[in-house]
Amino acid sequence: MITIRDVKAIVTAPEGINLVVVKIETTEPGLYGVGCATFTQRYLTVASAVENYLKPFLIGKDVHNIEDIWQTANVSGYWRNGPEFNNALSGVDMALWDIKGKLANLPLYQLFGGKSREGAALYRHAEGDTKEEVAMNVRRYMDEGYRYVRCQLGGYGGKNQTLVKPDNSPDGAYYDPKIYMRTVEDMFSYLREEFGPEIEFIHDVHERLSPIDAVGFAKRLEPYRLFFLEDALPPEQIDWFENIRQHTTTPIAMGELFNNPNEWVPLIKNRLIDFIRIHVSQIGGITPARKITAACEMFGIRTAWHGPADVSPVGHAANVHLNVSSPNFGIQEYYGFSDQIKEVFPGCPEIKNGFVYPNQRPGIGIDINEEEAKKYPCHNELPQWTLARWPDGTSVTP
Ligand code: MG
Repeated sequence: MITIRDVKAIVTAPEGINLVVVKIETTEPGLYGVGCATFTQRYLTVASAVENYLKPFLIGKDVHNIEDIWQTANVSGYWRNGPEFNNALSGVDMALWDIKGKLANLPLYQLFGGKSREGAALYRHAEGDTKEEVAMNVRRYMDEGYRYVRCQLGGYGGKNQTLVKPDNSPDGAYYDPKIYMRTVEDMFSYLREEFGPEIEFIHDVHERLSPIDAVGFAKRLEPYRLFFLEDALPPEQIDWFENIRQHTTTPIAMGELFNNPNEWVPLIKNRLIDFIRIHVSQIGGITPARKITAACEMFGIRTAWHGPADVSPVGHAANVHLNVSSPNFGIQEYYGFSDQIKEVFPGCPEIKNGFVYPNQRPGIGIDINEEEAKKYPCHNELPQWTLARWPDGTSVTP
């Protein structure tokens, strides 16, 4: 029997974004696995959950029994489904899948049934303060071979607007939802004229609208034939997706903030979304992600896993194995690996002509160079962009 000998959380920020990776060492010399546990805004809490709670729970357990370890660890603290512990659990879960692939001497997608496609299509993020600047960035990605681009004018919720605030208003990330909706609609009208019908456009509301405005906005964007509209509502307002469905055929993607099965189950079983967009480490890793993928397949919903720079390359690599193996893969978000990132994480997935490919190494196929990782310490700063406010100072979901 091969058992878990040591568990540790490695924190590093090669691009200034705090990443958490779990490494599990086994009783088999040289056999270890890595997993993504990145909740960038709460990285110290995740690392503590790994070292103080999961490590003593896991030492001595048989590395083969991933499902049983996931189930028992998930309920080990009685209260569950919170983002910090889910991320810690994801680090463990992915590391155990990595170990299983190494034991089988197969890349992980082979354990998931092999390839449904050779490579997974990616979407990139084009932003600008003007529609012309957005168009320039779209063109740049198209020249690199991408066929799916998310277009954002002035950041989430928009910027550069003349806002009139009450006296003594606190600092924050202010934006005006009405101006935001109007200018984004105008941007898509311009982009469709510039680029024609072939390219696929995506837009992220980032839960910045009131529910009824989100319904109206999804309808107003219908003529521009989006590939999908992302996170139109916050998780607290998921019942409103039924209203969006009744009013528009704009495809809907949802879920990067999800932590709890009660958030995604109703949307899947009622066919209220078209793409599930979960941040895989936020729900506990590959084990739950595969179950959600299978559930979505039954209901005609495709996957579009969250893939920003605050998913570690280990998490991105795990997503690639899910993406090439799942029959109902839709699209993968991608932000671009830098040279520093590739040095800290040898084995980053290969990107070519708008597709990502898994490498052929056993397991997840990626590693962490702990010496390189130490060169980039994390910083515990409060994020400012999460302090979103409407023009009168009202705090809203970011
Ligand atoms: Mg998003």
